[in-house]
Amino acid sequence: MELKYSSHSSLKVNTPNVALLPWGATEAHNQHLPYGSDIIQSEVIAKTAAEAANSKGAKSIVLPVIPFGNNAQHLDQIAAIHLNTTTAYSILKDVSYSLLKQGIDRLIIVNSHGGNDFKPLVRDIQSELKVLIILADLHKMIPDVVGELFDTPGDHAGELETSMMMYLLNDDVDISKAGEGKRTKFKIKGLNQAGVWTPRPWKLSHPDLGSGNPENANIDKGKIYFEKLTEALSTVVLDLSIAVKGDLPYI
Ligand SMILES: [Zn+2]
Repeated sequence: MELKYSSHSSLKVNTPNVALLPWGATEAHNQHLPYGSDIIQSEVIAKTAAEAANSKGAKSIVLPVIPFGNNAQHLDQIAAIHLNTTTAYSILKDVSYSLLKQGIDRLIIVNSHGGNDFKPLVRDIQSELKVLIILADLHKMIPDVVGELFDTPGDHAGELETSMMMYLLNDDVDISKAGEGKRTKFKIKGLNQAGVWTPRPWKLSHPDLGSGNPENANIDKGKIYFEKLTEALSTVVLDLSIAVKGDLPYI
């Protein structure tokens, strides 16, 4: 799949009312995927979904991807970049404000990074600005498909993400370098209790810098997952774009 920064082509859509904001992260992905894997996924999925929705009557545009996310746990990796929550809040608010000035009152965050937690930010900003902000957490959108398609999907550079990257950018995937993606449990047993959480340095808890074994990943699974995911997102874009004011109670 060809990757190019061509937001200008999306602007050919007349008077858009929905903007998609892809949001990724810059971090190590086990030993076999590019640092920018989340950036690539959020951007390509957003663009593909928007194009599909626009072909059915939506009026959407795709903004350039935000390449950095919350990676406070990953600062033990060279070139991992951490964006503070206050910085993410400022970016999201400034983007929302700018779009509102142009008459665009519907914004979809297309998030590909599990460490990004946008809900508190969306609650705060939506209470201040007359913009409807939708959070699309890609890794949570189609759990049934994930269950059918993958043996052990993993949550970071595992079977699922590796399959998708094989489909999107196979030349940049070197599966021969991949580790098993095991997770080291806490020594303090009580901290392994479900529902209990605290951040840990990624390298100590995930020695391969991945979570989940990618050994059963393949392009075919990646293609199916990508198509199902973009289809689901395109429905969100279309429904949001054709909704009238009365259907949008918060604006
Ligand atoms: Zn990733």
